[in-house]
Amino acid sequence: MHFFSKNHHLKKKQSEIIVFVAAIALLVGKLTLTMKLTRFIKMASLLALLQIILPTLTNASTTDTIKKVELTLVFTDNSTGIDATVKQKMIDAFFKVYPQEMARFNANASREVIFAIDTAYKGVAATSGHYVRYNPTWFVKHPEDIDVVTHEVMHIVQAYGRNRVPGWLTEGIADYVRYKYGVNNEAAGWKLTDFKAGQSYTNAYRITARFLVWVEKNKNPETVNKFDAAMRSGKYSDEMWKELTGKTVDELWQEYSANPVI
Ligand SMILES: [Zn+2]
Repeated sequence: MHFFSKNHHLKKKQSEIIVFVAAIALLVGKLTLTMKLTRFIKMASLLALLQIILPTLTNASTTDTIKKVELTLVFTDNSTGIDATVKQKMIDAFFKVYPQEMARFNANASREVIFAIDTAYKGVAATSGHYVRYNPTWFVKHPEDIDVVTHEVMHIVQAYGRNRVPGWLTEGIADYVRYKYGVNNEAAGWKLTDFKAGQSYTNAYRITARFLVWVEKNKNPETVNKFDAAMRSGKYSDEMWKELTGKTVDELWQEYSANPVI
């Protein structure tokens, strides 16, 4: 059960009012006024219509606010062409995976999250604080890639802020989480990158994620939890690898390279 409310952008509401007034003006102008005044009103009405139609076609923006249990998702979209079912799947994925991620890693993660489908953003997706931007073009081309959500909202849960943490581990953990909690990875054709010689644990994303899965299976099932907590509290150090697994990260990678089965 969740509550759903829909608010169009203010600009759109104003536009609707102006269209209405313009239509009345056209009608009145036609029926009762002199030719000169009629022409003036027609011109003004045309300008008003153009002012509305052009931004509506190029820059329409909608905002949905969805509340469920203790979470609020504000979903904005300034694009055209992204499928409504894709948007709904992104919303459903959020309400499924975010509570799981919070429960495992950080119960104090932000309870309000903003998703912005934003034509101005040219990457795939990016998260800052509790704000996630998505490139609509990506989802038009890859409508099954719903677990971009799973990865991005993990960055909200991580909340490492300005702590000095290895970026490759931050991204490796986010893809580890996508692998563990993703809702549509198979349909998206998304999987951990197979091991091959020449890779490094610092490659980040799916390569690091696979290494983390191997470390948890073979050395310590608490590895990701411990690193995540330490990174959030500013206590991460390279020595942690040895404390958690008995080996340095380089020694572990060597062992992994020799037998990378997961
Ligand atoms: Zn990321």
